[in-house]
Amino acid sequence: MNRNQATVEEAARFLREHNRFLVLSHISPDGDATGSALGVVLMLEQLGKEYVVVNEGETPLKFNFLPRFDRLRDLRKQPLAETFEAVIAVDCADESRMGDVRSLFASGAALLNIDHHPTNDDFGSVNLVRPEAAATAEILFDVAEQAGIAFNEELALCIYTGLLTDTGGFRYSNTTPRVMEIAARLLSYGVKPGEVAERCLEEITFAHVKVLRRALQTLELSHGSLVASIAVSVGDFSEANAQREDAGGLVNYCRNIEGVEVGVSFVEAEPGVVKVSMRARDRVDVSAIAKQLGGGGHAKASGCTVKGTIAEAKQKVWDVLEPALGVKHDE
Ligand code: AMP
Ligand code: MN
Ligand code: MN
Repeated sequence: MNRNQATVEEAARFLREHNRFLVLSHISPDGDATGSALGVVLMLEQLGKEYVVVNEGETPLKFNFLPRFDRLRDLRKQPLAETFEAVIAVDCADESRMGDVRSLFASGAALLNIDHHPTNDDFGSVNLVRPEAAATAEILFDVAEQAGIAFNEELALCIYTGLLTDTGGFRYSNTTPRVMEIAARLLSYGVKPGEVAERCLEEITFAHVKVLRRALQTLELSHGSLVASIAVSVGDFSEANAQREDAGGLVNYCRNIEGVEVGVSFVEAEPGVVKVSMRARDRVDVSAIAKQLGGGGHAKASGCTVKGTIAEAKQKVWDVLEPALGVKHDE
């Protein structure tokens, strides 16, 4: 992969060089996307810069404890007439993850791409892409230090949230000594780890439980019990009176089953559109599977969106997964 990478110094210079920024993360933002976008916003404020922070679609309300959450604009509900010469994209594995926010780029806009997905295709004009980083927030920590930003509780909370959520609460294999060192530094600025974990990891909506109850009835083992999958249909959402964000985390019930190598969830976001999430143990690199289906991610956590019914999406995933796994569906 082309790795003509910018240095942290160049990223810090990007912040200093421009005056008005468009800041964005990916569609269906998670804790790292939201924490990193708002972390950038706080850094820009300290540097006396102007910004607009925009996403295509809503940001889950569970993240409303983050500073400047009320500044996040949903482009679908609050269209913007302005175009921007300087753009900062965080946690976007590829260009398409930015969604319609791309319509706000001036032609020839300078784009700083800060990300940690190994499938990132360096779509920016300045690319700070570090696949070895556990979270985009980890990279942002370095940029903030380099830019001479003063750390305070608010900025620390944004970065900590990205680290906590992308490491699954400091449990996944991306939890390095450096992640723990940075987390310790962030706690020293006043972040309350119990409160952040409660909001990001523990608290669930009742609608989530109702979706989970229905989804668990679909859970099945296949491929010699190496694959576990689960499905949620649009009908399940309406009967549980749930939003798409209420289906988060279902894939973990699949992957966590003893002996399972790959867990897959099929979530029908709207009729004919299925969001696929994959989680792997050791044998398969699921980022490669997702990439073949137009998505991306990490070796052990990836996703893509597939057109068709749930049954059709399943078949498409099995077709790509089977050669990687070396096992066919009914074995
Ligand atoms: P998810 O299953 O949505 O939690 O995503 C797992 C990982 O895959 C995250 O790192 C996402 O950023 C990445 N990912 C999910 N969907 C896509 C997609 N359509 N394209 C690229 N990367 C994705
Ligand atoms: Mn993300
Ligand atoms: Mn991330």
